[in-house]
Amino acid sequence: MADVIEQQAGQTDFPAIRRGPLHTLQMNLGYLCNIACTHCHVAAGPKRTELMDWQTMATALAFVDAQHITTVDVTGGSPEMNPHFRDFVQCLRERDVHVIDRCNPTILVEPGYEWSADFLAAHGVEVIASLPCYSADNVDAQRGKGVFEASIAGLEKLNTRGYGQANSGLALNLVYNPVAPVLPPDQNVLEADYRRFLGARFGLVFNHLFTLANMPIQRYARALMRDGEYGAYMQLLKDAYRQDNLASVMCRGLISVDWQGHVHDCDFNQMLALPLGGGAPITLGALIDADLAGRSIGVGDHCYGCTAGQGSSCGGALR
Ligand code: SF4
Ligand code: SF4
Repeated sequence: MADVIEQQAGQTDFPAIRRGPLHTLQMNLGYLCNIACTHCHVAAGPKRTELMDWQTMATALAFVDAQHITTVDVTGGSPEMNPHFRDFVQCLRERDVHVIDRCNPTILVEPGYEWSADFLAAHGVEVIASLPCYSADNVDAQRGKGVFEASIAGLEKLNTRGYGQANSGLALNLVYNPVAPVLPPDQNVLEADYRRFLGARFGLVFNHLFTLANMPIQRYARALMRDGEYGAYMQLLKDAYRQDNLASVMCRGLISVDWQGHVHDCDFNQMLALPLGGGAPITLGALIDADLAGRSIGVGDHCYGCTAGQGSSCGGALR
């Protein structure tokens, strides 16, 4: 099984693509998470110990300054569980950099993290919160028992701080990904369904829903293999390939940094240990003055997950 997953990064008929101007730095602050979802492409969980240190964050701040980065997108694991999370966000906001927190909303009600909703609101951090379905059964099946209830409680906490409310300036976007190995449904239609259901049932408000395709890598690839569905899912992604999505795949404008400071073209390549441009491993510190625009991007079969159907990126559908 591992051979097949490694092969994805090495041999592919996915088209060659190149970088455009760099505007976003995506930082994986570590694999520690308070829950362990079956679809998690970083295989995060409560027993993971990998966490980004302050030295790597300081290098990231130097990179932000030198490259005029406008957005830093922090992810994990649960990024709030990194002990330097607050200092790092504060330094970025002092530079007027837009910060996105990819938040699993259960962390907002996790004992020890009661500070998180107030902190995010006080620093004007955009929250992108995962809620893979508005059905409690589906969420609990994918993420674990009780996760739906805790997620709703976390989102309520954000709403009370102003998140998702008109004219508050505090953006709350939700993320959906399918439970079954199928493509996500139409983003606009599903957003309307989420808005209706979460509003009527819980009084929740949010700005947008992002629909993401599940990437056939790591824990999700292993689950597909176990169920004999890996080949069919890959074929589904390839059959739904749309060339017009290529122009806007997220790797054109961002780089992804792992917890040790190694740089990749995106979070998915990071999980496949595929270095920036498919070349030799390189750290952020070595790229501070580099001009990355025009450089080639390291691709693999998993890239079909970004170009299938309406397309998929960390900001949802591409079209
Ligand atoms: S909450 Fe997110 S990071 Fe944590 S295990 Fe689930 S998918 Fe992975
Ligand atoms: S997985 Fe998507 S974002 Fe990553 S390199 Fe491939 S096309 Fe780009």
